[in-house]
Amino acid sequence: MTSSDNMVPVFDGHNDFLFRLHTSEQDKVVEGFCEGGEKGHIDLPKAKKGGLAGGLCAVYVPSPIKEVDSDGNFLAPDQPTALDTSLAMASMLFRIEAHSKGALTVCRSAADIRSAMDKGSFASVLHIEGVEAFDHDLDELYVLHQAGLRSLGPVWSRPNIFAYGVPFRFNSTPDIGPALTESGKRLIKVCNELKVMIDLSHMNEKGFWDVAEISDAPLVASHSNAHALCPHSRNLTDKQLDAIRDTGGLVGINYGISFLREDGQRITDTPVSELIRHIDYIANRIGIDHVALGSDYDGTTIPDALASAADQQLVIAEMRKHGFDEASINKVAHENWINVLEKTWGP
Ligand SMILES: [Zn+2]
Repeated sequence: MTSSDNMVPVFDGHNDFLFRLHTSEQDKVVEGFCEGGEKGHIDLPKAKKGGLAGGLCAVYVPSPIKEVDSDGNFLAPDQPTALDTSLAMASMLFRIEAHSKGALTVCRSAADIRSAMDKGSFASVLHIEGVEAFDHDLDELYVLHQAGLRSLGPVWSRPNIFAYGVPFRFNSTPDIGPALTESGKRLIKVCNELKVMIDLSHMNEKGFWDVAEISDAPLVASHSNAHALCPHSRNLTDKQLDAIRDTGGLVGINYGISFLREDGQRITDTPVSELIRHIDYIANRIGIDHVALGSDYDGTTIPDALASAADQQLVIAEMRKHGFDEASINKVAHENWINVLEKTWGP
């Protein structure tokens, strides 16, 4: 990547390509991801073309059935199934790394991320979104951490033994459901000990405030937006944004149309400027050092204009058009993420 083509490398807080590959019916998905031609939002050639330099790559285990409980929640998968699927997806990332001949690196430190980005290798961080794979004793966490796990969201949008994931509701407060369980509180403490980042996207509000009280790490929501602009239960209230600022944390802006629009309409003909509206609001409220990107590529429906990671630089162009200077753009595009990970993980 050269400065002459004006590309700004993006380190992105959330993608679901491992889930897409895991559920793909195509053969040779590892090869397809490395060599391109994939249907989804991200493969390595698309990432290269759009200046997507890396990001948090989520392991996510789907709910066993497309049914909900009496509160309208998705049900969590059982632990043995979740562990089996989580290991399959983590192994997919390691197999991609091996096959990629240096085009993708699994990063375990901020230095790893910087070095991968310098080399033009996709800087991936292994993340789990919803830790149904873990039992109360957290043995799985200790082992997966040794394998390279550096970030986790205790919940996806469903309850589990640790916490209560906020259900998807438009025009709703995120204050739905109970606080962390005792095992959930222990999970937060062990994440702090192991220096594993705790992601609060998908956490309900009571759980959010429990983590704020217990955790000694910066508060991070990897792919959530401003509730004041789009009153979705997955977005962050002003009070939550302020708490994130006070701990030196950050918010990754989600490109999903459900979390962008004021009217909650699921319209794919949503302009990229909707995304800038959220960046602008959060930067004005809590400062430019606390805003970053969290595309949710391969995990949600994004605006047509941002068809795939190959079009990633449209977000940068829209920020320039809106008057953000290059220093601010670099912070939002990658510097803030690397800084918050370094603060969380240590040097
Ligand atoms: Zn998510």
